[in-house]
Amino acid sequence: MKPRCIPLALFLLTPSLVAQEDGATRRLTEQARHFEERVVHVTDNVFTAVGFSVSNVSMIVGEDGVVIIDTGMSLDDAQRIAAEFRKHSDKPVKAIVFTHSHGDHTGGTAAFLGDGRPEIWAHANFGSEARPLVEGGVTFQRVRGARQAGFRLPPEERINNGIAPVRYPKRGAAAFASDEETKPTHFLEGERQAIEVAGIELELVSSPGETNDQLFVWYPAGRVLFAGDNFYRSFPNLYAIRGTPSRSVRLWADSLGKLAEHGADALVGGHTDPVLGASEVAQVLGDYRDAVRFVHDKTVEGMNKGLTPDELVEYVQLPERLAGKDYLQPFYGHPEWGVRSVFNGYLGWFDGNPTNLFRLSPKSEAERVVKLAGGTAALLESARAALATQDNQWAAQLADYLLAIDKDDSDAKRIKADALTGLARNMVNATARNYCLTVARELREGTDPNGPPE
Ligand SMILES: [Zn+2]
Repeated sequence: MKPRCIPLALFLLTPSLVAQEDGATRRLTEQARHFEERVVHVTDNVFTAVGFSVSNVSMIVGEDGVVIIDTGMSLDDAQRIAAEFRKHSDKPVKAIVFTHSHGDHTGGTAAFLGDGRPEIWAHANFGSEARPLVEGGVTFQRVRGARQAGFRLPPEERINNGIAPVRYPKRGAAAFASDEETKPTHFLEGERQAIEVAGIELELVSSPGETNDQLFVWYPAGRVLFAGDNFYRSFPNLYAIRGTPSRSVRLWADSLGKLAEHGADALVGGHTDPVLGASEVAQVLGDYRDAVRFVHDKTVEGMNKGLTPDELVEYVQLPERLAGKDYLQPFYGHPEWGVRSVFNGYLGWFDGNPTNLFRLSPKSEAERVVKLAGGTAALLESARAALATQDNQWAAQLADYLLAIDKDDSDAKRIKADALTGLARNMVNATARNYCLTVARELREGTDPNGPPE
């Protein structure tokens, strides 16, 4: 396309593209209705604080004490929740149950300790996701995690986190419950374990999925399930783009099957508002399990035909009856990442195509592509033209060739930043959106991604 044609193309394309962009932003903004700050009275003696923190915090009131399930991300959040809960019961906390070890579910524990030391229950694998990274000396996950969460974005660019409201962590906050006071004291060792605290009978059930240290809590007297992060109102994060060890998608589907077996009247997920009513719970859990199982089974079917991950993301498309459900929209996780993760979990990084066993380095590939394009100026012009027609993915890929040759190429940096911004504005997926917008800022400002948060 000749440069002088661009303004015309832009003029013709802009209205629909703006509508599309507004559509994604509007949908993500509207998703926040599922984590507006409120205490949900789930059933007789069960209360769930939604939206006070990044994750849900629940309280079950017993005879002479209460049980707390998950504790939120920060002490400040948890103290506000504890104050809300005291309006419903001032009985002491007799036990805390962690559904898993992620910091957004365990960071507020100190707010619930009180005078007497409660039992703190967790899966025997507690902390197993983070431990290999710590032991292996891997620190860059923190940078990617901050990009995914949008910690370096100003509030006006950070709509929400798809399943959680915007929060900025305090510097130096503990990653997860690891202090002497707040770490688990009791562990679920086997498949299931019945416990009784303050006259409350609970069943803890091992449920590997989002993490290998995930458990769910079944409260039979109230017919309530506390699912942890194996359920929230979004397509599940079968792979987190901050970088996580492989999550077993097959076991996640099995765990959802185990949840569905209980015939619960209420389902409290790790994030977003609880699902209330037996038929609604059955429908949601059945669909959720089917969606996760479909991604697993269809990916394996394609793998067995020799398809590569790049081909599989086209091959595996959720059936319409699942893709249309509002609790399976990709606000947090994305089916494509699940597909790649299933492949990677079984077969590792090699896609099976021998061309990719010893690829050209990014720089040597870029030098050849530039030559093919007729030189750096021509490639730059193509990247600009792609950007002008909002072919943003291609614009970013072309900019990457230029940056592979010269990482300080200011034209290429600007094009890539604009392309990522354009992509982000059309995304309903909060983690991808935050990640793209953060890297766009890094490119524009020349900030060091390893530097301290602003
Ligand atoms: Zn969570």
